[in-house]
Amino acid sequence: MEHLKVAAQLLQEGSIVAFPTETVYGLGADARNTTAVEAVFAAKGRPSDNPLIVHIADRKQLDAFTEQVNDLSNKLMDTFWPGPLTLILPLKEQTLSEKVTAGLDTVGVRMPDHPVALKLIAAADCPIAAPSANRSGRPSPTTASHVQEDLMGRIAGIVDGGPTGVGVESTVVQAHHDGTVTILRPGGITAEQLGEVAAKVQLDPGLAIDSGSAASIPAPRSPGMKYTHYAPKGELCVVQGSPNAVSAYVNGALEEAAQRGERTAVLAFSEHLHLYRADAVYSLGSLDRLAEGAHRLYAALRSCDEIGASVLYAEACPRNGLGDAIMNRLLKAAGHRIIHIAE
Ligand code: AMP
Ligand code: MG
Repeated sequence: MEHLKVAAQLLQEGSIVAFPTETVYGLGADARNTTAVEAVFAAKGRPSDNPLIVHIADRKQLDAFTEQVNDLSNKLMDTFWPGPLTLILPLKEQTLSEKVTAGLDTVGVRMPDHPVALKLIAAADCPIAAPSANRSGRPSPTTASHVQEDLMGRIAGIVDGGPTGVGVESTVVQAHHDGTVTILRPGGITAEQLGEVAAKVQLDPGLAIDSGSAASIPAPRSPGMKYTHYAPKGELCVVQGSPNAVSAYVNGALEEAAQRGERTAVLAFSEHLHLYRADAVYSLGSLDRLAEGAHRLYAALRSCDEIGASVLYAEACPRNGLGDAIMNRLLKAAGHRIIHIAE
């Protein structure tokens, strides 16, 4: 408890502190303090037009910085908070630092489902702006040592709460008056779960794209959509098709790469690990339990960097449940390079 008090005090003083949430580690700052928020952007090397999600510990905190919240948003909060769901809500003017929202008239808010995060936010007694605690572009941190790797010397402290649970970030949604929920970023709460509460769930058109360059994505409604993210240092390609066809293609490509002196790695589901020949094959868990893939994804991408892999392939997965979030992150990590293998 003592270290939480210290961390809360640092936040109150305008310093920036990393802390665990149920999704990934966040890098927190007092969302009302522009100097603190600027320090977050600087530590991460994050583009300033990519807004931050504001974290709260109690729904009463919303009144201070949001305008009238619609019924569907309230219903989603009743159902999924605390949890990995971020709601885009109307911002009350002159409350949060403009740097948090990148000048938008909306703010992304969530209540994390992690006892340490909730205690820290409550102790700091302010809304906490917190993007993932990684250098911009790198895989998000799912352990305190990932945070250390990326941000050591750039931040005031890290609260270590062990490995995170979900492993991918929150789902970002906008809930409309007509009962429709638009998913701006897939994440820990699935489209199926949202469909149990909302009359209609739709993907933002910017998400429908799974190939082509980021530049070809239509005008992003969620600013983060346009950036390459989560990328390992080597060149990653996602491959989709039947397991035998995919592994035959990948093994051929890896053999050529090995002959050129490249170090190779594969990210595959546990059912198919035995099919691959690479310097390292990392398991994303079972295809029957995609939550394992979400949990392991970022650590696997970081492991590829640790062994110095320069050529990487990842198996695609079905988009049901958490598969949507996994594919979204894999494709961003791959700069949208995907190969579809026909039978
Ligand atoms: P991160 O903080 O790295 O998890 O990224 C936060 C994500 O939420 C980014 O993709 C942002 O673009 C998105 N986001 C945050 N605030 C807003 C907002 N007001 N409107 C739309 N998207 C937002
Ligand atoms: Mg991030």
